[in-house]
Amino acid sequence: MPIATVNPANGETLKTYEALSPEEIERRLALAARAFDSYRTTTFFDRARLLQRAADLLEADAPDIARVMTTEMGKPVAAARAEALKCVKTMRWYAEHAARLLADEHPAESDVKDSGAARAHVRYRPLGPVLAVMPWNFPLWQVVRFAAPALMAGNVGLLKHASNVPQTALYLEDLFRRAGYPEGCFQTLLIGSGAVEGILRDERVVAATLTGSEPAGRSVASIAGDEVKKTVLELGGSDPYVVLPSADVAKAAKTAVTARVQNNGQSCIAAKRFIVHESVFEEFREAFVAGMRELRVGDPLDEDTDVGPLSSEQGRSDLEELVDDAVESGATVLCGGQRPKDLADRGWFYEPTVIADVTPEMRIHLEETFGPVATLYRVADLDEAIAVANDTPFGLSSNLWTGDEGEIERFARDSQAGGVFVNGMTASHPALPFGGAKRSGYGRELSDHGIKEFCNITTVWIG
Ligand code: NAP
Repeated sequence: MPIATVNPANGETLKTYEALSPEEIERRLALAARAFDSYRTTTFFDRARLLQRAADLLEADAPDIARVMTTEMGKPVAAARAEALKCVKTMRWYAEHAARLLADEHPAESDVKDSGAARAHVRYRPLGPVLAVMPWNFPLWQVVRFAAPALMAGNVGLLKHASNVPQTALYLEDLFRRAGYPEGCFQTLLIGSGAVEGILRDERVVAATLTGSEPAGRSVASIAGDEVKKTVLELGGSDPYVVLPSADVAKAAKTAVTARVQNNGQSCIAAKRFIVHESVFEEFREAFVAGMRELRVGDPLDEDTDVGPLSSEQGRSDLEELVDDAVESGATVLCGGQRPKDLADRGWFYEPTVIADVTPEMRIHLEETFGPVATLYRVADLDEAIAVANDTPFGLSSNLWTGDEGEIERFARDSQAGGVFVNGMTASHPALPFGGAKRSGYGRELSDHGIKEFCNITTVWIG
């Protein structure tokens, strides 16, 4: 895959970049190791000052970097601005809270009195240079979600971003440099995925985090496993969205539209499978399909656009294949199911689509739809709803709409996902852990759980 900005709204190649040479990669790895050697000894106060400065710069840059993101991967520009501001909020949150989250822990004397220690404590120390392999769908957010806690913990970062967002990747390196971070604390490596193995096997790189597809995650985790290096994997999702009779059905249907088409449908935590109790099925179906039909598909730089193009031609054909397979096997298209006629020649657009009568043999039942396509299931009761919700290889998040406390409790117990969101759509927040179960990966980002993933949790025993 070439390293290039190709505008998904019209297919035009705007900028191409040469991948780094092996010599340049070596120079940068050496720089990262040197930077870590001194950065690891800085105080939380110093690190917080740097991160606050980066947040201030990003806040000022938000309108400009939003346009770059939109041009690189096609998200509506208002959503791109919101993404930049969410990064600002998260940087500030970690700048403010990291010292508390990583404060030394002192076990109760009574718990350790037979350990022989006069005193003992736990210290969270940084690990070293961490490689971050990141996807294009939230080109700032995915990186900041890793970088803010990693830098506050005293680690340094090496970013291998997706090949279609090189300008955003270079912007991030420049942002941290302008904020005053010592050289080498955060570097962007313009490389193809083929160069990841060599970097991951290099002894100066101590761990890796990957957000992306399952095959990429499997590859990086196997290499890291072979090298006995820690990994965090944030992979795909096919989140269920369950609507039960006591729910506010109108609100559930309205939120369902946003939950499905956010980021042009290309979000790991988008609700993708809508599982609705038969007693409210018709009411939900009608409102949901009407909402999907009303969406404005078009130029993502236009402030009024709801849904832009998919990020690549390949992404659109993968989605079309899933829809075609379902239709050939008997599924019903309730709306969409094709390229919008007026935009078909321009970019990689696809109509917001709802598919019903899905059966387990169809690919769309088990695979992730990475675009504005929803599947709709009718169920008889909560047991069936939970069974359908869990009938997926993924386990990122899950949604439930109900007014019944017992049903909430039951869903929170039985949903096989890393998140349970009730009467609202899944969204990440700096103070709440984020991550998946099953094939959606392992490890957590954000909150205290996220910042501790790349720490050497050290026992200090003093006799
Ligand atoms: P992708 O193809 O896996 O790419 C993600 C990153 O991995 C890119 O930097 C890519 O580089 C690199 N990569 C690909 N194959 C690799 C390999 N064999 N070895 C090392 N690196 C490799 O995924 P995507 O299409 O960009 O993103 C969509 C997927 O990400 C979806 O499945 C989505 O659900 C998932 N995702 C998950 C989360 C989460 O938090 N759980 C968040 C967002 C997205 P190149 O661009 O150079 O190929």
